[in-house]
Amino acid sequence: MSIQAPAASGPGASPSASAAATVVVVGSVNMDLVAHAARLPAPGETLIGERFAGTPGGKGGNQAVAASRLGADVALIGRVGLRQHGHELLQALEAERVQTQTIRRDDQAWPGIAVIMVAREDGENAIVVVPGSNADLSEQDIDGAAATLRQAKVVVAQLEVPVPAIQRAFEIARSGGVTTVLNAAPAQDLPAALLAQTDWLVVNETEAAQLAGAAVPQTGDALTMARAAAAVLRQRGPRQVLVTLGGQGAWLLADDHPEGLHLAATRVDAVDTVGAGDTLVGGLAVGLAEGLSAARAAMLGQSAAALAVSRTGVQQAMPHRSELPPLPP
Ligand code: ADP
Repeated sequence: MSIQAPAASGPGASPSASAAATVVVVGSVNMDLVAHAARLPAPGETLIGERFAGTPGGKGGNQAVAASRLGADVALIGRVGLRQHGHELLQALEAERVQTQTIRRDDQAWPGIAVIMVAREDGENAIVVVPGSNADLSEQDIDGAAATLRQAKVVVAQLEVPVPAIQRAFEIARSGGVTTVLNAAPAQDLPAALLAQTDWLVVNETEAAQLAGAAVPQTGDALTMARAAAAVLRQRGPRQVLVTLGGQGAWLLADDHPEGLHLAATRVDAVDTVGAGDTLVGGLAVGLAEGLSAARAAMLGQSAAALAVSRTGVQQAMPHRSELPPLPP
């Protein structure tokens, strides 16, 4: 597969020309192709839809945009295929002031694509995600971005790119004293070596239950499960574990809060909760990069996520810093 060199000038200039980024996201970039119809088609059926939208997504892209809107200098490390939608994806990130010099461009490959069907009548959806070039992110690519990782304050990753690449990124970050945040979504078994390099583990309720497995009771209320899962997961390496609980907020287990702390969610009229977790992780990373305490950084993330769920869309719903109320003392 051929790699297209970054442009010689302008926003795609050489990596050495990149501005310092305090938050570096290692992750996926996807184009979400969303068809709306009255209902989902049956197998073999062709339906005429009502509406179509193509919007940038992928957990890496989402979290990078969230952090950028909340005021951090952000760079994204990933891979984007340029066969259809790739240029658009890069331009959309640049329009959000996310640095893209550390994204490798593959001129013959497809970018990550999510094909999504949404039914108007019952809100059901069906989704196929094809990882495309996200699946090609390699340890070599990470080594090529080592300088960007070392000068960050916080490095954030999710699990939509290969785990060996994330592990390499965390090793480099940690060796430079940079804080590492792993949003273990979508959940999968994690090598012990990765958890050992993880300062913050962020998971939602489902992911927490899946990762903690048989070690926690799968019945009872969400907060009880979150407390048990956080305790189990913290023993595997991360000093800070944040289990998010949708409208119930989040449970934080941290060096500052060894007994745990329940952070209530901001009350809002939720209209679209897709991407809530990505907004929270972006906000958390910004808070940590600014030197906030664990609890206050998580509160910044929650405050941003609450605003995002009160509006429709994913990236388009993410708030700018000026929209957030001041954090309580
Ligand atoms: P994910 O999107 O990863 O499934 P959650 O649904 O747990 O994650 O949401 C992440 C965070 O977003 C929560 O911890 C909370 O701060 C905020 N959030 C989600 N849903 C709501 C809601 N209905 N009201 C207020 N805040 C919410």
